[in-house]
Amino acid sequence: MVVSKSQTYEKIIPFLELGHNIFGENRVQEALLKWPALKTKFPNTQLHFIGKLQTNKTKQAVALFDCIQTIDRPSIAKAIFEEFKNQNKILPLMVQINVGEESQKSGVMPCDVDDFINFCKNELKLPIIGVMAIPPAMKNPEPYFKYLKNIAKKHCLEEISMGMSDDFKTALACGSTIVRIGRKVFEA
Ligand SMILES: *Cc1c(COP(=O)(O)O)cnc(C)c1O
Repeated sequence: MVVSKSQTYEKIIPFLELGHNIFGENRVQEALLKWPALKTKFPNTQLHFIGKLQTNKTKQAVALFDCIQTIDRPSIAKAIFEEFKNQNKILPLMVQINVGEESQKSGVMPCDVDDFINFCKNELKLPIIGVMAIPPAMKNPEPYFKYLKNIAKKHCLEEISMGMSDDFKTALACGSTIVRIGRKVFEA
């Protein structure tokens, strides 16, 4: 995935012209300024939401994105469930896990992961296809990547979204299915 957050419409166009078709954005408002027009020009593009989702942005997020990777609390899971009904639309979803148990980061805490995934899948019948995480900065990410892979396996989830510009090689070696690259592609 090319992470196009904070990049302009003009900077994103060349990647679309090259045929790249999966992008990530972390703010609903910013994505709304760029992507309706980009998607009209390049209709096969898949846009993933990778930021913190506020409940009051759920409606716009469900309308614009093709996947939301950051489901992390019952209130947002319920809001998405309601929005699927309202818009008569279903998107694949992923559960974000706060693998380093960092207070400043989003994501469901490891101790709550199993219950939360079961709640989303069994009670709300949400189409959870994978897990996503951002490991702590300045630490060896490998144990966190391995943990995330194990959670995916335990719950039979196909997608494992992990790895960014600085750690994507380790992430791939640990079984990542989606690496999310921003700086390394735009600053190259
Ligand atoms: C910004 C961001 C990325 C990309 O990070 P880079 O270090 O620029 O590759 C990946 N995932 C998330 C959730 C981000 O917010």
